[in-house]
Amino acid sequence: MATITFHGAAQEVTGSCHLLEGAGVGRILLDCGMHQGGDAVRRIQDEEFAFDPATIDAVVLSHAHLDHSGLLPKLYHDGFNGPVICTRATAELLDVMLNDSVGLYLRDLERTNVRNARRGRPLLDPIYTQEDVETALKNCEGHQYKETIPLGDSASLRFHDAGHILGSAIVEITLREQEKEKVLVFSGDLGKGDSVLMNEPAVLEKADVLLVESTYGDREHRGEQDTIIQLREILSETWQQGGNVMIPAFAVGRTQDLLFHLGCLHNQGELDNWQVFLDSPMAIAVTRIYDRWLKLLDADDVRQLSDAHRSSLEKFLPTLNLASSTEESMAINRIKGGAIVIAGSGMCTGGRIRHHFKGRIWDSRNTIIFTGYQAKGTLGRVIVDGAKTIKMFGDEYVVKARVETLGGLSAHAGRRELLAWIKGFQPQPRTLLVHGEPAAQDAMADKLWRDQQLKVSIPSRGDSIVL
Ligand SMILES: [Zn+2]
Ligand SMILES: [Zn+2]
Repeated sequence: MATITFHGAAQEVTGSCHLLEGAGVGRILLDCGMHQGGDAVRRIQDEEFAFDPATIDAVVLSHAHLDHSGLLPKLYHDGFNGPVICTRATAELLDVMLNDSVGLYLRDLERTNVRNARRGRPLLDPIYTQEDVETALKNCEGHQYKETIPLGDSASLRFHDAGHILGSAIVEITLREQEKEKVLVFSGDLGKGDSVLMNEPAVLEKADVLLVESTYGDREHRGEQDTIIQLREILSETWQQGGNVMIPAFAVGRTQDLLFHLGCLHNQGELDNWQVFLDSPMAIAVTRIYDRWLKLLDADDVRQLSDAHRSSLEKFLPTLNLASSTEESMAINRIKGGAIVIAGSGMCTGGRIRHHFKGRIWDSRNTIIFTGYQAKGTLGRVIVDGAKTIKMFGDEYVVKARVETLGGLSAHAGRRELLAWIKGFQPQPRTLLVHGEPAAQDAMADKLWRDQQLKVSIPSRGDSIVL
């Protein structure tokens, strides 16, 4: 008998973490994600595992995004000693993601401690360190899609392409108990069918229990083609006003999609004279990893490119400037107009984008383009929800820049695609919705019942089910 306990991404989008345990499989953590939003130091200091990490045998990681992987270093810090089983590309991306994340965290913690010292408050100890990141990376085991990987005494696991970001996987776990087999499928994050660079999510047919994400359970996205038209219009209107464009970048996936789209516009002579800046050391490092995998990605749009273009996104978009150093980043502020600045972080919770906002958000000639989900409690969400003023760096800023969202660039399947993917399983598995806010989950549950007569559960944090 095996059970699953939901420790995160239960009626919320971030903090993905589920514990599978049973006689033949051991204690397996599916994802070990971090929560996002709010003050980073306070949030990370508050992250606590509701189980003893030392008792976990292995982590199975669906993909490298921090809301699925960010607490791995803390897990090792708190006593975990097993492997992280993931795809090869995920292992490469993790190196960049975890190193960047610990750097930001320790810098913010130092700043908090300076403030605490000034106020006579006790100093905070880091909940994990650079050393834990190195331990986590050393313990990563990269596998290929569809490879059968043994798990515990009598279970096995296979990754399937989730089409969400490079290396992203749907996890299929087969449990064997007294001649009987049970299949658990965990969708991870599912990609959008028509997105560039990635394949469509693999369609699976057999599962007894299905954990499926529901981020956009209540919404459809625009098609990718419409999105390009929308992007072209926004750019051309901003160009005519002599403004600049700021794009809060998700370093993994969306940034590379965007570079690809801008490259297409450039190669069709439709990018005016915009100078494009990638102002994020992490996004630059990740783009280089994508470049290495570009030829192996079997996606249609990549296959159509010439060999030279296929060798790197940088070559595909010749007007691209990389800003690694702080000086290069600050130099962008001096540009009066005609700059497209892609800078982290994607939900504006930190990073260089806030510095660009500081100089430009109060000027109506400029445009901010959001390219992905903005979680509750993030500055990005506040802006998307239409705030007239925002607070940053202890100051107030009026939001006069035009605010647009390119929904079609989302890395997540929209509602129709989620429903169709679930329908691929026959007979219907016992289905549980994870990784979604309650409104999206309720709408999706309702739709599944009406369209497919499928009754789903929506677990809360701490809930357990018996498989
Ligand atoms: Zn993701
Ligand atoms: Zn996610």
